This record gives sequence, structure tokens and C-alpha cells, in this order.
Amino acid sequence: MYLPDWRRELQRWRTEHAQVANEDVVVNLRRSVVLCPLIAALNLMGVLVLAVQLFNGPSETVAHWKWALLWAQLTMALVMGSFGYLTHVLRDAHRAASTRWLIWICILSGMGISVCIVAVDQWVTPNVTAYVLACTLGGLAVYLRPGASAAIYGLSYAAYFMAIGITQSNPDQLLSNRLNGFAATLMGWGLSLLLWRNFVTITLQQGQLSKANEDLQSKQRDLERLTRLDGLTGLYNRNTFVELTRLELDRAQRQGSSTAILLLDLDHFKRVNDTWGHPAGDAVLKNVATLLASTVRSTDLAGRLGGEEFIILLPGTSAAAARMLAEKVRARLEAKPTHFEKTVIRSTVSIGLAGTTAAEKLTFDTLYNDADKALYLAKQRGRNRVV
Ligand code: GH3
Ligand code: MG
Ligand code: MG
Repeated sequence: MYLPDWRRELQRWRTEHAQVANEDVVVNLRRSVVLCPLIAALNLMGVLVLAVQLFNGPSETVAHWKWALLWAQLTMALVMGSFGYLTHVLRDAHRAASTRWLIWICILSGMGISVCIVAVDQWVTPNVTAYVLACTLGGLAVYLRPGASAAIYGLSYAAYFMAIGITQSNPDQLLSNRLNGFAATLMGWGLSLLLWRNFVTITLQQGQLSKANEDLQSKQRDLERLTRLDGLTGLYNRNTFVELTRLELDRAQRQGSSTAILLLDLDHFKRVNDTWGHPAGDAVLKNVATLLASTVRSTDLAGRLGGEEFIILLPGTSAAAARMLAEKVRARLEAKPTHFEKTVIRSTVSIGLAGTTAAEKLTFDTLYNDADKALYLAKQRGRNRVV
């Protein structure tokens, strides 16, 4: 890859890392709650073994390094136990920046104590297993941003380099261990980088997936709404209205209440279209729909049957009460013209009313026919009236 490609790649990483807000802290906290006590338990076992050796073994085998190792392991057990407790308490506070610091300090402490253990080991063995383990575990177990992991691994190696320089007296062994430590540090950092990139990719993909899912659900809701509502006015369309009315009539008959419907047809609506154009006609239809929706109760149903015909279902309403509402609608529309661009369009409506009592048990079709006949009469008698 050329240099500019690298720069672009790094820029992409930076942008992606910024998008992974606090998810890494959430995972790290959850893992630390389990891992820290586990490490503490392992170290306590080491402490126990060393203690048994120190107190029961022949006195000539008792050496200072065993005491040093015991203290180092005990410190590690105490530190990890404390971090286990802290992360358990803070596991829901992952939004706070301080929790990110806590994880860093936890790893640094772990690495630091592993350096102490290795340094103590150097008195009797060239073994550096504790440091290699810490590097590997640090890389595998927690998600670290590249900057943080570079700092943590860099600091750890510097400490390791110096510490074994104090306790390892054989220069060849020292060189070999420093090189091995360097390799282990690089491997841990590489692992950490690799897992971090994986984590970022997966997290972003999950985010995209759930966003796509949300979009799909919202589109599905829109589609459902479109199939149920009239596109121009937002009132129920014919099919939905008929379906809901049938259910409502069944319910009313079971409960023994009366129901009424109002069939509305705008007067001389064709003239509106002919005089001011179709968009002006549409504006009138929307104005009527708004008026209807704001006049009826939330339990009433308002629909557009098509063209300039509207329908209202009034559950639990007698014919007399329905007539009063119809008259209110008629008068309100007469008083509230439509303002379209710079013109004021006055319209009136004729309303046919039909009702059923609990004893009658009329179907929707019969009710509709009755309302249609009443509407016809209203038109015949001069329009702008309720029959
Ligand atoms: P009447 O008083 O007898 O009801 O007369 P009218 O002109 O209202 O009745 P008619 O049935 O002759 O005309 C209805 C008009 O409604 C015809 C059509 O152009 C118009 N129309 C139907 N649907 C729409 C629509 O969605 N938008 C608009 N702007 N006009 C529509
Ligand atoms: Mg009509
Ligand atoms: Mg009409």
C-alpha cells in the first residue's frame, strides 16, 4: 500500500472508532466482573502453595524469593479482587468516562504485578511466563483503543526491561529474556489491535443492521397506514371504515346501544374544480376532513368514501343526538371557508342521517342505504341541510 492509502485507511479507522461510543466499556466491564475475581483466585492459590512451602518445608529451602513471590501474588490477588468488586459496582455506569480509566488502570496494575513476579523469578529461574501470560490475556480479554493499548504495552515493556535488569545477573539470559519479552509485548499489542478492529467492525455492522431493521419496521407501519387511510385527507378509507363499522355494529348490538351514521356530500363540488382547478378542490376536501376530525369525538369514526363524500359513525348515539351533531357540522363548514392561495372558497354540505336502535339490529348495508336515501332528499330539498 502506498503512503496516501495508509493515511486514508488510518483516517477511516479514526472515524469508525469514534462511532463506537461506549460499547467497548460496556463489554470490558462485563468481562472484568468475571475475569478479575478469577485472576485473584488463581493468585490466591499460588499464595497458598507458597505459604505451605514456606511454613512446612525444611528451613534451609526457605528463600527470600519465595517471600517476594508470595507478596507479589498476594498483591495481585488483592488488586484484582478490588477491581472485580469495583467493576461489579460500576457495571451500569458505563457511560461515565471514569469507567474507561478504571479498566486501563486495572490492566496496567495486572501487567505491573506480572513484571514484579517475573523480576522475582529471575533470582532463581530465567522463566518469564507471568509476563507472557499477562500480555496475552491483556490482548485477548479486554477491548482497548489502539492509542491506549500502545501506551499500556509500551509502559509495561519499559518496566519489564528495567525490572529484569535488576534481578537477572546473567547477561546472556537477560538479553534473551528482554528479546522474548519484546516479542510477547508485540504479540499482545498485535492481538489487542486485531480484536479491537474486529470489535469495531462487528459493532458498526450491528448498528447498521438494527437501523435497517428500524427503517423496515417504520416503512411497514407507513404501508399499513397507507392501506388503511385515505391518502388525501388522512381519514379512514372506504374499506377500513366499512370493516370498523361492522365490528362496531356487532359490539353495539351485544351491548344493546344505538348507533347512527351520517353520510355527507359536498354541494356543487364540481363547480369548485371547474372554477379554481383540481388542487383547489383538494384543499377544500382537506379542510372538510380537518373540520370533521375536530368536531367528532375520539370514539366516533370519520371516513372518506371517495370523491367528495364523507361518512361518520357515531357509536352509542341516538338519532336525535346525531341530528344535532350533523347540524353542527353543516353550520361549521358553512362558516369556515377554505383559503386556497389567494382565494376564499365557500362550501356547504348535505347530510343524510340513519340510525339503528339495539332492538332493530340493522346491518351496515341497510344503514348505508337509509343514509343515502336521506342524502338524496337533502339534495332534492335544496342542499346545505340535514335530512
Ligand atoms: P352535488 O351538489 O349534486 O353533489 O353536486 P357535485 O358537483 O358535488 O356532485 P358531482 O357528483 O357532480 O361532482 C363531484 C365532483 O367531485 C366530480 C369530481 O371532479 C370531483 N372529485 C371527485 N374526487 C375528487 C378529488 O379527489 N379531488 C377533487 N379536487 N375533486 C374530486
Ligand atoms: Mg357526490
Ligand atoms: Mg357533491
